[in-house]
Amino acid sequence: MSVDVEVKTFPLFINGKWESSSSRETFDVINPATGELVAKVAKGTKEDVDKAVQAASAAFENTAWREMKPKDRAKVLYAISHQIITHAEELVYLEVISSGGTLRRISSNDILQMADLFQTLAKFTLEYPFSENLPSPPFPGPAHNFIWREPIGVCAAITPWNMPMLIATWKIAPALAMGNTIVIKPASFTPLTTLKLAEIISEVVPPGVINVVTGSGTEVGEPLATHPKVEKIAFTGSTEIGRKIMTLAAGTVKNTTLELGGKSPNILLEDADLSIALPGSLFGVFLHSGQLCESGTRLFVPDKLHDQVVEGLVKLTSTLKLGNPLLEGTDIGPVISKQQRDTVLSYIEAGIEEGATVVCGGKEVAVPGCEGGYFIEPTIFINVKNDMKIAQEEIFGPVLTVIRYSEIEEVIEMANDTIYGLAAGVWTKDVNKAYDVARKLRAGVVWINDWHMLRNDAPFGGYKQSGIGREMGKHSLDAYTQLKHVHTSMVPELHKRNWYQLLFSETE
Ligand code: NAD
Repeated sequence: MSVDVEVKTFPLFINGKWESSSSRETFDVINPATGELVAKVAKGTKEDVDKAVQAASAAFENTAWREMKPKDRAKVLYAISHQIITHAEELVYLEVISSGGTLRRISSNDILQMADLFQTLAKFTLEYPFSENLPSPPFPGPAHNFIWREPIGVCAAITPWNMPMLIATWKIAPALAMGNTIVIKPASFTPLTTLKLAEIISEVVPPGVINVVTGSGTEVGEPLATHPKVEKIAFTGSTEIGRKIMTLAAGTVKNTTLELGGKSPNILLEDADLSIALPGSLFGVFLHSGQLCESGTRLFVPDKLHDQVVEGLVKLTSTLKLGNPLLEGTDIGPVISKQQRDTVLSYIEAGIEEGATVVCGGKEVAVPGCEGGYFIEPTIFINVKNDMKIAQEEIFGPVLTVIRYSEIEEVIEMANDTIYGLAAGVWTKDVNKAYDVARKLRAGVVWINDWHMLRNDAPFGGYKQSGIGREMGKHSLDAYTQLKHVHTSMVPELHKRNWYQLLFSETE
């Protein structure tokens, strides 16, 4: 079945309106399930980035936006939430046909999480300590001290293709909640929903508050990460490009937050309830064809349970249906591109060469009706050692590596033996054991008897090379403010000022 879509051209979105790119060129957006062209999108340039940043900068100068009262800002955030729900059908459709995520997941999870994020941050904004009084010091004399939290200014967001609209909101929502303005560069595989979001959000915020420049990492991302008027950069993507962003941002010392890759360990303890742990572990790794940063890609299984667990995993995996993500019955869609498909297949080959054994999957698949799409069978490797390439590098595809262990100390050591630290999980019936393991795991989120459970009121982000900073939750608001200390002396006599004698030796 081919997807019947009208091929539309999307310009840039700058200063509240659609704008052509200075290059006058476009690039293609392809449906990864069919290989068909779904849209043409403006190829942005350095000049377009400058135009968008100037618009965002002018919008930030508008004190009506920057200094809006929390209760009015909360109303704006609720209005954005309402816009998302009003336009949900179109957003969901555009996201499915460009990212390959299933309609079932995006319509029942992502879109609701997005709408809820704006509502959650609206509530936090009402309670946010924008101004705090410090107690007056007892000596040498009274003073009044405030701590003010102020917006940073023009923020840049650079986002990946895997969950493009959800991840865009993780940056847009806290940036706007704190009175900043934003320029977003979405990934070139999936720019459509970010453009649509900017259009619908701009109906309830002043022009220039939200802008989108589409195009490549080098032609749009780099000028954004180096623009002198951009004061903060929020990046989600691979650790490799994250390192580059840090270097680019260093030139103008930008406030930088990074959400990067992962190779998350998932530990089964001997007393785990396998009736939940097995489907849970597959949910942890095969959702969205394994293209989620916090996927549980390394499954650690105790020797005693190994054969039983592998048999159960293979059986359950055989029930998963690959197909067109627009169909309700599809469990797993395609990977994002031909290039990504080839990368995943080359990792599978590397695993076999290193001595690991494929017990299910391992090949690309032709899905009837989606012959032009990029599908890979959900794949499980056994006989994996933790130092193999397939256990250390982020594959970003439907590949699970099963690693045996005998002692708890050994598994904790292997779990932490990675450059990443985004997520981790443990399955056990003993809650005390679970907390003990959770404490020892070096990761930004630890799931106990669960996976992928993120909350809009809880922070998300990585330890080690999985990133810097946190998104979602109250903590994300701190990442979009800066602190100002304001001191007022209340001491009327000059000679009683404690600084006087520090410089002046002569007394009056
Ligand atoms: P990527 O790093 O290739 O690209 C991310 C973004 O950076 C894209 O918009 C890309 O165009 C841009 N970019 C590329 N080169 C650039 C440059 N030189 N300067 C500026 N921008 C540049 O990542 P991807 O392939 O789009 O996404 C997959 C990666 O994202 C995986 O590593 C995954 O783990 C990670 N990810 C992390 C999280 C998280 O929250 N930690 C969430 C989702 C995805």
